[in-house]
Amino acid sequence: MHEMKQIFGSLLFDRKKMKEHLPSHVWEKLQEAIEGRGRISASTADIVAAAMKEWALSVGATHWTHWFHPRTEKTAEKHNAFISSDLNGYSFYSFSGRDLIQSEPDASSFPSGGMRSTFEARGYSAWDPSSPAFVVPTPKGGTLCIPSVFLSYDGTPLDLKAPLLKAIEAVESRTMKLLRLLGNRGAKLVRVTVGAEQEFFLIDRTRAQTRPDIRSCGRSLIGAPFPRSQHVEAHYLGSISPRIVAYMEDVERDLAKFGVNIATRHNEAAPCQFEFAPLFAEANIACDQNQIIMETLKKQAIMHNLRLMLHEKPFAGINGSGKHINFSICDEEGNNLLQPSTTFRKNITFLCLMSALMMGLAEYHGLLNASIATPGNMYRLGGSEAPPSIMSLYLGETLTKLFDAIADGKEGELTSGANTLDLGLNKLPSLLAYNCDRNRTSPIAFTGNKFEFRAPGSSQAVSAPLAMMLSIWAWGIGRMVEKIEGLSTDKTIVEPEKVLSILSEVAKESSKVRFEGNAYSNEWRVEARKRGLAVPESIPDAIEFFVEPKYKKMLSEMGIFTEREMDAYREIRLEHFCDILETEIGMLKTLMYEGILPAISKQIVQEGEAFAAAANYAETDMPEWKNKISHLAQIKNLILKSLKKLDDMREGIHAKDDSGERAKIIAKRIVPVMEEIRCLSDEAESLLAKDNIPYLTYRDLLSVS
Ligand code: ADP
Ligand code: MG
Repeated sequence: MHEMKQIFGSLLFDRKKMKEHLPSHVWEKLQEAIEGRGRISASTADIVAAAMKEWALSVGATHWTHWFHPRTEKTAEKHNAFISSDLNGYSFYSFSGRDLIQSEPDASSFPSGGMRSTFEARGYSAWDPSSPAFVVPTPKGGTLCIPSVFLSYDGTPLDLKAPLLKAIEAVESRTMKLLRLLGNRGAKLVRVTVGAEQEFFLIDRTRAQTRPDIRSCGRSLIGAPFPRSQHVEAHYLGSISPRIVAYMEDVERDLAKFGVNIATRHNEAAPCQFEFAPLFAEANIACDQNQIIMETLKKQAIMHNLRLMLHEKPFAGINGSGKHINFSICDEEGNNLLQPSTTFRKNITFLCLMSALMMGLAEYHGLLNASIATPGNMYRLGGSEAPPSIMSLYLGETLTKLFDAIADGKEGELTSGANTLDLGLNKLPSLLAYNCDRNRTSPIAFTGNKFEFRAPGSSQAVSAPLAMMLSIWAWGIGRMVEKIEGLSTDKTIVEPEKVLSILSEVAKESSKVRFEGNAYSNEWRVEARKRGLAVPESIPDAIEFFVEPKYKKMLSEMGIFTEREMDAYREIRLEHFCDILETEIGMLKTLMYEGILPAISKQIVQEGEAFAAAANYAETDMPEWKNKISHLAQIKNLILKSLKKLDDMREGIHAKDDSGERAKIIAKRIVPVMEEIRCLSDEAESLLAKDNIPYLTYRDLLSVS
């Protein structure tokens, strides 16, 4: 533990180090830029670059790169050497302010969804000073990674970070307005905070490598379901196996160096499934940290001969993995504004922020459907284990009672008691925190002093869903501000008591997104439709919400995404969906032709021979045995038939130009055929002799000891 404290942040050029390494006037300029209050001049950038270079070299860096997040949700980097030389052969280390501020990665292969024509293929990346740079060690050196945004030449963002930064700013600036209106003169700034819980699977690498589907698709496309045995119950929060603990400790040590604190680690519900939760941080930094966490998990897995699976549904029949994005907002002293309090004014602020999100969700929740519509989530969402594809908000009993009472104008009648609220909203009991997280079926929940968005997929970048969630919240806060301003003639301070009428109005208007029941149930689907909530039938349907005119209008009016960017976003996501599914279709065919179909033949031949031999001795004509052989033959024939269907359909989609149409055919027609094939293959697996099963089974894969 002592060691952890010493190494903490050692590879991070954080604010403390910047302050140490920079002259005070430069540090102040930089601080202003970090807080969004100013821009950095060329001369300031030169001084910062020199300090950053010195520090990076001192911790062993040999290269630097702008580190950015293209819309593929991965990170991208292009390394440049620090070392340079002149014509006389004199060598020196070079890294200028210009290098720091802007770089031109050859990024023509990143998807732009048509926003960048080939003649202007080279986008550029620009330093984001609000997230600290860090050095990633390599075997013989290291790379200074400079968090950056990625733009096309006309300034259109091509990445996820640029819109995220705008969404964060939108929430923060509107919240400041709200605070001022409600009479808070003290707060200097507010910050969105985020903590993303990361679920993942770990299996033995040597075994995983024998499965071509896991190698190229990151998930198993076939495999008879794991028997739901005592294994499952014993795993969740059970003691972690020594091999995994050793891995986790190495991950934690590596992460500590980047200033990432892993607050909790535990076994998850499924065998070989785990979760890491970092301590929350400022939203932008938390997004970068999550990318670093995923990278580190992957790197250390290789060192420990483990295979990391970040896929949302690596194994059928057992729980999938998500990323729970917890978010809140605090002031400069770290006071959480979503923490119910003992003062009336603070509680009104709290209720306004809650109402703002409810109002935004009621109008624009479809954007969240779009933001989590990834191929992996197709297999995860909607089963009885993960939030459904319908976006609703769970508040918990206490707040539900409160909002119902506010809607009816009866908040004064609430009596204090264990689960209720003190009279007149003077006190929201601290009990609230313990009373809120009972319903795990809801995709969005208020969990005592923060919201938790549970639908994002485990492999997604936090910034993708978070940018949409924050846009929605910012819109709602903006509306609250307008409504409250309407109460005062001079738009200055408004008595908090007066705000109750607005809260009441909003509680009524937005009640459709509140749902406290079992969100896994079929009744909820029916009810949600009645309430007018979006119930997308498929992933491509959800992706189409990106271009819903009403949503595009809101995002462009808020200055977060232009309409053109939204069109491009849709295009990128649909192309990505088609690409992933095409790979899976190809792999499924390979698995059948190379492994499963020949294995069935082998079993039939073996059993046929045995049957013929046994017939000499048998007293009956052994119909059950015969049936089993003919059943195998039938399965083989059915698989062949479905494969033919798959081929025909595939030709059909290649004829379509529009990625939306292609994606729809894949989701609605091809995926069911893939499932058919999988079902048949899994049935065959259960009928094959162990020696004839061509691939390691779930039982072989899902045990790490
Ligand atoms: P759970 O019961 O969901 O496991 P935890 O208290 O363990 O909840 O927190 C889960 C995540 O939420 C952690 O990453 C934690 O840092 C984060 N978190 C806690 N408080 C906040 C906050 N105020 N803002 C953002 N994230 C938070
Ligand atoms: Mg949680």
